[in-house]
Amino acid sequence: MITVAFLGAAGTVTGSKYLVTVNEQRVLVDCGMFQGAKALRQRNWEPLPFTPGEIDAVILTHCHIDHVGYLPRMVKAGFEGPVYCTPPTVELSSIALLDTAHLQMEDAEYRNKKKLSSHPVALPLFTDVDAEAAIRLLRSVEYDNWFEVAPGIRFRFHDAGHLLGAAGVELILNDGTKERTIYFSGDVGRYGNPLTTNPSQPPETDYLVCESTYGGKMHPPEDPAFEIMNLVKETFERKTVLLIPAFAVGRTQQLIYLINDLARNNLVPTIEIHVDSPMAIEATDIYSKYKSYHVIPSRNLEGANNMLKGPNVFFHKDKNSSQTLNRLRGPAVIISASGMLAGGRILHHLLNRLIDPNVIVALVGFMAEGTLGRKLLDGEKEIYIHKTLVPVRSKMVTIQSLSGHADYYEILHWLEGYKMKPRKVFVTHGEITQSEGMAKHLKEEKGWDCVIPSLDNVFSLE
Ligand SMILES: [Zn+2]
Ligand SMILES: [Zn+2]
Repeated sequence: MITVAFLGAAGTVTGSKYLVTVNEQRVLVDCGMFQGAKALRQRNWEPLPFTPGEIDAVILTHCHIDHVGYLPRMVKAGFEGPVYCTPPTVELSSIALLDTAHLQMEDAEYRNKKKLSSHPVALPLFTDVDAEAAIRLLRSVEYDNWFEVAPGIRFRFHDAGHLLGAAGVELILNDGTKERTIYFSGDVGRYGNPLTTNPSQPPETDYLVCESTYGGKMHPPEDPAFEIMNLVKETFERKTVLLIPAFAVGRTQQLIYLINDLARNNLVPTIEIHVDSPMAIEATDIYSKYKSYHVIPSRNLEGANNMLKGPNVFFHKDKNSSQTLNRLRGPAVIISASGMLAGGRILHHLLNRLIDPNVIVALVGFMAEGTLGRKLLDGEKEIYIHKTLVPVRSKMVTIQSLSGHADYYEILHWLEGYKMKPRKVFVTHGEITQSEGMAKHLKEEKGWDCVIPSLDNVFSLE
């Protein structure tokens, strides 16, 4: 008996968790936290529909919190490991989990102090101690190497593009009477994105689990470097601050690289870049360390030539240093997490600067439903930050060309190598309209049998 259960990222983007069972063996692919709308976040607090202690292993596609952020709670509930992921994902997940723990703890403390919680006491979803327990279980497995996780369950990672160390997972499942293959796409990256590799060609498998973040959309054809160039120029003209909410891992490094590359080519003057995120320094060091995992020449990540650092790049680790940025007048760029504005220091910068019509705020990534980022993207003129109503007066711009996710057209291109027809395609990791869009394109273009699982749906792999 072989089954797969969709316990997250089904009809929604966050909370990726897929339980694969082969007879008595159980492996969880991704262990993500739900983010965005309150009803979804609530699920992070509910018990899992399985016993964590009975899971043989977890396999992680990449370090984003919607793929790894539930791990500390799983460990607290009795899961003892191991957790397999690529070498960069081991390091990046470690800092991401600790950073999230600190954010959760700070947020709970702030809510308790200001009496903002609807509960008697606001609690963090997990603490730094819980995160460290989860980090101890991480084991690295390189791309393209087959690995047996449990009797009847083997897997190997394929490069997914998306960000450093991101992978898709190919599994061979054997229950003693039959053998089936399944490929979990993970988050599929884009072709020609700055810094990141292109997604590698997926293997042909019986079943495919395909992400659909932009399953019904096509990214605009603009070149992100051109858009960033215009923004930096305008920042100089206005002598202002360009505020960019971005994930501390991946997007932040891409932005630093793009801005410094423009200056190196004399397309813009050198500009101060302030990176306000406790984990961005470590993430940038990890990006510099895994040189062969990028598309750029290694020499551009070394010593004085390191384009992710340099005398114009300032990292603000502690709170005091972060607060000095409130007085910064510009021209300068502030890059701060979290990417979807779901928490973190970016909220304080927005509280401070959204009211200023001279400031430019650039939204660069995916914004999940229910997040503050989505509200700004949708053009809301007033938003609540920590229960304070803030008027949105600054100039808002969006740069979609820097997305880390393939759109439907790129997904179709990515799947071009498939000669056989999968028995079934499970379309996941998308808001329902996007998943429907992806399913429609796969049916029309390829004649593939697609299903969009709902949360907690279980399928038998016949
Ligand atoms: Zn991701
Ligand atoms: Zn994701």
